[in-house]
Amino acid sequence: MGPRDGHRTGLTRPDLLVAGGGPAGWAAARACARRGLDVVLVDPRPDRSWRHTYGTWRHELPRGGGPDALPDEVVAAHDVGWAIATRTHRLEDEYAVLDTAALQHALHDDGVRVLRGKVAAAGPHGAVLADGTELPAALVADASGAMQALSTARRPGRRAEQTAVGVVVDAATAATVTGGRLVFMDWRPLHGLPGWPTFLYAVPLGGGRVLLEETSLARRPGLPLPELADRLRRRLRAAGLRDAEIPLDDPAHVEHVRFPVDTPDHRSPAGVVALGAAAPFVHPATGFSVARSLRAATRLADTLATRSDDHVGLDGSGRAAGARRAVGGGRARVVHQMRRRGLDVLLRLPPAEVPEFFEGFFSLPARPRRAYLGSCGTSGSDRSDDDVVESVRAMTSVFTRLTPRLRAHLIVGTLCGPGEAQRP
Ligand SMILES: Cc1cc2nc3c(=O)[nH]c(=O)nc-3n(C[C@H](O)[C@H](O)[C@H](O)COP(=O)(O)OP(=O)(O)OC[C@H]3O[C@@H](n4cnc5c(N)ncnc54)[C@H](O)[C@@H]3O)c2cc1C
Repeated sequence: MGPRDGHRTGLTRPDLLVAGGGPAGWAAARACARRGLDVVLVDPRPDRSWRHTYGTWRHELPRGGGPDALPDEVVAAHDVGWAIATRTHRLEDEYAVLDTAALQHALHDDGVRVLRGKVAAAGPHGAVLADGTELPAALVADASGAMQALSTARRPGRRAEQTAVGVVVDAATAATVTGGRLVFMDWRPLHGLPGWPTFLYAVPLGGGRVLLEETSLARRPGLPLPELADRLRRRLRAAGLRDAEIPLDDPAHVEHVRFPVDTPDHRSPAGVVALGAAAPFVHPATGFSVARSLRAATRLADTLATRSDDHVGLDGSGRAAGARRAVGGGRARVVHQMRRRGLDVLLRLPPAEVPEFFEGFFSLPARPRRAYLGSCGTSGSDRSDDDVVESVRAMTSVFTRLTPRLRAHLIVGTLCGPGEAQRP
């Protein structure tokens, strides 16, 4: 659909119009502006402060200098990650927790023209806002998050969602629960409640604060937040904390998490490239997407800037096709579909078997574990999100580590369609 029936603004036609001012949109806008491209970013609330706590494996963050380098203060804290399934595993890799305000500040670029508005449609000639304003642009990026504002794909019914409830406590209080470790996952059901398994995620936020979060990795539909809050309170009490040390009733100390992990492939109209959670870059098993969005921004900007000569004469559709290849082509979609399949299999597991499954997973050598958990190349490249061979190897390695009963569940789950969470 192309812009029509609206009124035009007096803006000159930018090289890139970004719909959405979250991490993915701003990373792309900044990277392109820093290469001299003319960029407009549109968001209904462009001055909104980002509030989520973003974490990622440290090796997934963009490295080195260059125009997209991020200042050190974007990482609020980092430490080696630990995981507990049925046994305790030191994961070797450093996990980084981002300072969200510092990230938002760092990704802002004064060279980007910012407009308040909601993009309603786009095509090879630009975009149209919900109020009818036409914004011509050489290329439109849909970075509107899980809503996928510009995708023509049918909205799925019940989504698989990651949900979590966390409290922020001081490091000494947290150490009573974690022994001072950064806990990526602790699957022990110390809350004492039956039902779909959840785990503790415990990460430092910097400044002597630690986030303790009861997390449901994925469930269709998402596990309700009150249930997670109840489990967290019980888990922390079981670990020795007093109620006064668990500030679950103080909104200033609480984080609520709910987002889909099975967002469908973006069906992009001509002239549109999708980025971030809209693409979807969200890893179906972990929910991560921020580090991948940061890296994709560099690839998009390099493609648009250094190959601009090739694009002369290309219509908006051709330009968008090149942009899509740069941020993740056919092989990336194959890897994503494999991970989606892995999610469905996980959702079909009997709840009691889930920790055993993760025991197999965390027993993996670092290489296949990284290949599955992350989106980053195991050999230092940033392209394992499209490394089909490495992904198959990682999945096969998990399979060989499982008990015969779990393998049988996995085979049945693989043969079935999208999974529903099993009842205990
Ligand atoms: C609480 C929480 C914690 C998370 N933790 C992590 C984590 O630790 N690590 C990780 O990697 N990921 C995490 N995620 C998942 C994911 O990475 C985040 O959701 C991330 O914010 C996605 O970034 P994004 O820029 O793609 O989309 P968003 O951050 O959702 O930004 C989308 C933007 O688009 C705007 N928009 C929407 N519709 C339109 C429209 N029609 N026109 C113009 N603008 C529009 C919105 O206002 C918004 O500003 C978390 C998600 C949540 C909710």
